[in-house]
Amino acid sequence: QAKRAGRNTVCFFDPEMQAVVSANAALSSDLRQAWRENQFRIDYQPQVGVDGQMIGVEALLRWLHPQRGMVPPDQFIPAAEETSLIIPIGRWVLDAACAQLAAWARRPDRRHLSIAVNVSVRQFRHPEFVDEVLQVIRQWDIQPNKLKLELTESLLADGIDVTIAKMGSLKDMGVALSLDDFGIGYSSLSYLKRLPLDQLKIDREFVKDILTDANDAAIAKTVIGLAQSLHLDVIAEGVETEEQRDFLEKQGCYSFQGYLFCKPLPIDELEAFIDRSAEMVPA
Ligand code: C2E
Ligand code: MG
Ligand code: MG
Ligand code: MG
Repeated sequence: QAKRAGRNTVCFFDPEMQAVVSANAALSSDLRQAWRENQFRIDYQPQVGVDGQMIGVEALLRWLHPQRGMVPPDQFIPAAEETSLIIPIGRWVLDAACAQLAAWARRPDRRHLSIAVNVSVRQFRHPEFVDEVLQVIRQWDIQPNKLKLELTESLLADGIDVTIAKMGSLKDMGVALSLDDFGIGYSSLSYLKRLPLDQLKIDREFVKDILTDANDAAIAKTVIGLAQSLHLDVIAEGVETEEQRDFLEKQGCYSFQGYLFCKPLPIDELEAFIDRSAEMVPA
């Protein structure tokens, strides 16, 4: 209750709350400075198919804070949303991903790769979002189906008709749409059927204990079954062991992302990783 009130009113009587408020304010002003001073970087994590062949990557934002070191996105994305900085930052990530796709399109050994970009709710709701995606695709002259936008279930919390219409416009452009962190939200199945999606992404939360927790295993199986009946692609994130991978494959999931294959890498290390994996898989 206090937390909810804290959004609009600052309660100076609660020292703990005061600490949270000033920590957030510090983070927000740090973020603005970080954006001005180009402290962000994008790492890329491979996504692989059943034979371990690379099918694409997910772009993951990194903040290299001069004092705090690497700040994980979970710690600053909420503040970036709150301050609207997510709009220019998100635009930059999208542009960088498309620039990378354009570079790969010129290379026969890389042109099949897709790039998944995370889109925050605030960014998706921005009235210019669809136009910006169209512009960036045109500007880099890339195949739109190589760009995959990762959306989250929180988009379904309200304004469902507008959300579906926007997703439809993106689909019409040929962009691929994935529902990220699937299973942790509250999307109703009847909504799911109406969404013009290409892919469901099973959240790491369920993959983690898939071999030991019967509930997690059941949820993963259900998501895979759901994807199959809706004719959607399915990918599992956070795959760390062979056993998890094998279990998922047995259930009908044929795309994976996780430390088992590769952690997120800066672009030059990713390029080296792609070259190494190409050597291992004979053409
Ligand atoms: P996400 O989209 O679900 O991304 C997957 C997260 O799982 C990434 O965390 C990745 O590093 C991590 N991960 C991948 N494989 C494994 C594994 O095998 N084990 C474990 N323990 N973790 C694994 P990361 O990079 O910290 O990103 C966290 C979240 O921040 C992302 O979750 C995404 O929601 C958000 N995010 C990242 N980049 C962006 C961005 O450019 N824009 C927006 N709006 N959100 C972003
Ligand atoms: Mg994601
Ligand atoms: Mg995810
Ligand atoms: Mg996740």
